[in-house]
Amino acid sequence: MMIDSHVHLMPERVRQDRTPFCEADPAFGSLYRSPKARLASESDILHYLDSSGIAKAVVFGFPWEDPELVRENNDEVWDFHRRAPDRIVPFAVLSSQGGEEACREAERTVGRGFAGLGELAVYQQGWTEDRLASLEPTLALAGTAGVPVMIHINEPVGHHYPGKVPVDFSALIAMIERNPEVDFILAHFGGGVFVYGLMPEIHRIFARTYLDTAASPFLYAADVYEIACRIMGVEKILFGSDFPLLGIARYLKEFEKGRISEPLRESILGGNMQRLLERNRAVPL
Ligand SMILES: [Zn+2]
Repeated sequence: MMIDSHVHLMPERVRQDRTPFCEADPAFGSLYRSPKARLASESDILHYLDSSGIAKAVVFGFPWEDPELVRENNDEVWDFHRRAPDRIVPFAVLSSQGGEEACREAERTVGRGFAGLGELAVYQQGWTEDRLASLEPTLALAGTAGVPVMIHINEPVGHHYPGKVPVDFSALIAMIERNPEVDFILAHFGGGVFVYGLMPEIHRIFARTYLDTAASPFLYAADVYEIACRIMGVEKILFGSDFPLLGIARYLKEFEKGRISEPLRESILGGNMQRLLERNRAVPL
């Protein structure tokens, strides 16, 4: 069974006219000002899943600055899940501003039955030590509730693109170490931080850390899938497309190029996410 672990749904009023939101939220504007940056509707997502033979998708919104828009986006994701409970696994986004308000939204959504938190992201300063430390109350909540937390982590090196921010890898690893009860999903291959999983002490810290493949065809050579499996463990790599940015077809091509074996493909394409969701207290799957 295939599961896409990384699909974005924007609020309906944003899809109708994104212009005011591009102005009000600079991070959203930098990513979506171009009309080429697609925004998917519920039916686009269902059509994508059906036409690709994907059974389920983990769906979430955008980490708006405005906490009210965050709530609205989460509520629409929840409604989507209610309409297609066997297809849509809801994760809850939190405001990129963080703070108490974000923690309250985490409490509200996890209490309601969301299967996870994420994709959490910050803009401007990036993931600094302070900003990562400020996630602690939210992470404590996720640990107690038994839901995974997905974080947008990009590479600290290489070409620039909208939304790319500085990331303090030492502070990120320290945060993971402080929260051994939390299943972390580091999006976009965790910006490459998994390489340090070759160090035995870091490998232990990554015991409950997963990586998703979102946007990897734009970032890495096709060898990344196999190398990441070897370092992190086969069960730790989750297929996520970042739809509507990319669909599954592009990843399947990369798997061919990287000569990924059939068992590895199956694990990445769904088996691993299925086990992770089953292991956690989640909405009925
Ligand atoms: Zn991301």
